Amino acid sequence: MKRIFIFTLLLIFFHSFSFSTLYYEKMFLISTDFQFPVVKIEAEKDKSPVMLIFGGIHGNEPGAYLTAEKLTELKLKKGTVIIVPRVNFYSIMKNVRGYFGDMNRKFKNWKSKKKDPDTRIVKILKKLMAQADIFINLHDAWGFHRKYHKNFGQCIIVDAAKVISKKTKKEIDLEKIGKEVVEKVNKKIKNPNHLFAFWNTETEKTHKEKNLEQMKFTATFYAYKVYGIPAFGVETSKNIKSDELKVKYHLLVLNELFKVFGIIPENKIRPNLKKPVFYYVKIFNKEGKEFIVPEKSVLLLKQDETITLKSIHGSRKFGWAADILGWGGENDRNKRYLITKKTTVLIRHDYHKITSFKIYPSKKIPRFIIKINGEEKKIPAGEILKLKEKDIIILKEAKFNGKELSIDFKGFALKNRINRGDDRNVKIKYGELQKNFSLEGKGRFYKIEAKLKRNPLFYFIVKYER
Ligand SMILES: [Zn+2]
Repeated sequence: MKRIFIFTLLLIFFHSFSFSTLYYEKMFLISTDFQFPVVKIEAEKDKSPVMLIFGGIHGNEPGAYLTAEKLTELKLKKGTVIIVPRVNFYSIMKNVRGYFGDMNRKFKNWKSKKKDPDTRIVKILKKLMAQADIFINLHDAWGFHRKYHKNFGQCIIVDAAKVISKKTKKEIDLEKIGKEVVEKVNKKIKNPNHLFAFWNTETEKTHKEKNLEQMKFTATFYAYKVYGIPAFGVETSKNIKSDELKVKYHLLVLNELFKVFGIIPENKIRPNLKKPVFYYVKIFNKEGKEFIVPEKSVLLLKQDETITLKSIHGSRKFGWAADILGWGGENDRNKRYLITKKTTVLIRHDYHKITSFKIYPSKKIPRFIIKINGEEKKIPAGEILKLKEKDIIILKEAKFNGKELSIDFKGFALKNRINRGDDRNVKIKYGELQKNFSLEGKGRFYKIEAKLKRNPLFYFIVKYER
């Protein structure tokens, strides 16, 4: 099921994947280093109210952005949730609070330096706020507010005791809501050091403390003041070492806020985080031809071909970046790149280096000779060969500069023989393949690689269709 959806004044389209809950995803500032996705999840019928949630406005607060990522698994019976899982992805890649200064101090009267990319992001964030009935900004902060009042950790923060909704003209008691949520959440927290506190920073007053005075420039204050919507800062503590525990606490608070504002989830989000495992990148050339590149592979492409590294697939949905070394910026996903020389692409997840692959220009693309159900076929390197599960293939030959190469079907190992990484001249059946060696672990995509001694030279991909 596909739908077209108009999101603010920017023309954008989304795809929806599920029936009872609608899921839309869109990348903003695409083809720049500052690209970031926005996810919108809405109940099929009763789409009100709309809650906007930011994760990672500060780049060194994983509890916040990992929670936002988990929230994209939500299915809703009632309401809409707009999630920005990695607001400040550039700073997340660097694991710093704000690479271009503090983004959460740029919402009001911000005199930006001309080339400050945060300004472009904040402009989009404000447009998202304009669509929201409630706004939540997730953070991790130092310390524990209950122990030391100047610390922001383990705290729900509001800018004022009450807000008069611009939409309904009704008064919403932020202080009452905040205190009640804290009370309910604390009943579920076993460690007494981790109990939450409520804090009204009374942002509109003049404060002697510089950090409180600066709250006038934050996202929550902007949402409260300009859009007249209830806005909460939710802060877990950076002194809690486990990211999963921080996510758990964030989720406890959010579930209570959902209840207060009448958003009804269909499923329960668990705080467990999968280790980021890279599967492959999808690359497209100018003509729209698709290539799949797994880790440590060499993709041969024609000299002077223009390509785009489109989507990055892995065990995690968000946080991936592809960096073409020696070219572009830190995240070269969705940019157009001309192949003129040997290129290494580094794959990052958040601030971790995960793996890499190579793209080499080639005057002539070598071919594999294989047999499918007895019929000989020539498969160019880089090709995606579609097969049925009942097909039987035999790998016959691959050559480079006249030399015979070994061919390794990753995921196929002959029984009663040590796997020497050469699978030529044997019948390969789907049922004998080891799923855990497929690219995505599900037995759909496999890599067949030509090697000289142990060095990978080129490959093609087999895609098994059901
Ligand atoms: Zn923060």
